[in-house]
Amino acid sequence: MLEVYIASKNAHKVQEYRKLLKPLGWSVLPLPDDIDECPENAHSFEANAMEKAVFYSRTMKGWVLADDSGLSVPELNGEPGVRSARYAGEHGDDSANNRKLLQRLDTVPNDRRTAFFICSIALWNDQIGTGLTVRGQVEGTILRQPSGQSGFGYDPLFFYAPLGKSFADLSMDEKNEVSHRRRAVQALSSVWEGGVRRAFVRSE
Ligand code: IMP
Repeated sequence: MLEVYIASKNAHKVQEYRKLLKPLGWSVLPLPDDIDECPENAHSFEANAMEKAVFYSRTMKGWVLADDSGLSVPELNGEPGVRSARYAGEHGDDSANNRKLLQRLDTVPNDRRTAFFICSIALWNDQIGTGLTVRGQVEGTILRQPSGQSGFGYDPLFFYAPLGKSFADLSMDEKNEVSHRRRAVQALSSVWEGGVRRAFVRSE
């Protein structure tokens, strides 16, 4: 069985990955509370995720899974991108971030308001110097005003056409079925089961 540390101090995220990775038969472990935090300075979701996985794997001496996610709007050259959490300045101010996004798209017509939620997952083992990254993404359009009460971040502005609702109008289970995180885990699962497992896990 593969033992994997989840590179997040967020207990909810660790729990979500425990659920998502159960079908792979992985044993999910949290990082110790007193571990130093990894800075996130890279310019792509993949590089940020890998930076974290490598950083924590050096200390934990084992497999580490890290992710990085955000919103990308092609009309804005990929903004907010890796700056999604701090788009309007302060880290984690969802309302200010949403207001800035609406402002930036104010004059953009409906047919050019396409957006993607993106999630990159990196898996790394520093002792054997190997790892991989995968990406999951989901397409939507940015509404002209927020809709819905659930979720977080840009969910109220992200309209998902196949279900005819914004992500904040979906229940957590409905969102988890189609989200970028879910799709990244599906990509990880197919790469892993498709042969990487045999290459990475020496005892098999
Ligand atoms: P993190 O990498 O998961 O911490 O996400 C960084 C930022 O991207 C968050 O603070 C949100 O602004 C945005 N984001 C990532 N995933 C979602 C999502 O599922 N819904 C809404 N916003 C998200």
